[in-house]
Amino acid sequence: MKLGSSAQPKPEVRFKGRQVMVINDEGQWTAIIGVPLNTKPGKSKVEIFQNGQTASVAIEIQPKEYPAQYIKLPKGKEKYVTPPPKDLARIKRERKKFGQILSVWSNSESVDTDFHLPIHGRIGSPFGLRRYFNGEPRNPHSGLDLVAPAGTPIKAPAAGRVIDTGDFFFTGNAVFLDHGQGLISGYFHMQRIDVKAGQTVRRGDILGTVGATGRVTGPHLHMNVYLNRTKVDPELFLHRYLKTAAK
Ligand SMILES: [Zn+2]
Repeated sequence: MKLGSSAQPKPEVRFKGRQVMVINDEGQWTAIIGVPLNTKPGKSKVEIFQNGQTASVAIEIQPKEYPAQYIKLPKGKEKYVTPPPKDLARIKRERKKFGQILSVWSNSESVDTDFHLPIHGRIGSPFGLRRYFNGEPRNPHSGLDLVAPAGTPIKAPAAGRVIDTGDFFFTGNAVFLDHGQGLISGYFHMQRIDVKAGQTVRRGDILGTVGATGRVTGPHLHMNVYLNRTKVDPELFLHRYLKTAAK
């Protein structure tokens, strides 16, 4: 949303209590807001703080339908449909950890939103698919799948800082990058991780390799993109490069 001339001081904008990205787009302050998939369409509002004043501005959230997808997990992977009690404590711990990772906010003046493809792979599942695992409804597909052989190097799509890495129940080996102002990217199911928390990376630096760790049916890279702690469609940032992806 447009917030007036960038000759004015930069406004601070919040959506559902969370700070959101504000960039200077051709002389206009512009807020880029991540809206959760489970948001009911209709009226909502954002808070704008500027020149010592607070304003509440109404916005309208439009509906968007995503297709359904039915996935059969192979034998031995059933634990990922309904995790056994022994894994629940781990999942809960990891959810808290993800919350901490996604709360990272760095006040960068400009943010590079022009992502390059992390791998040249075939596009598998897009963002937003309503998913059924072995017939059971589960969370929608929260990222973009790029299919490539195990061992394919994964490149940073833009400059950033490694917030954290780890081996988590659903995501397998994962890397999270902070690109500034709440724009965070995540890389899941990796075979190998080649970066460490705190490290800065440039566009094109190798983060690790494609693998099949966590809840997967085969080797691929699952990429997540977050804005204001909300998963958004990575294609919004990658669209320029998807056209050139291998078919
Ligand atoms: Zn995926």
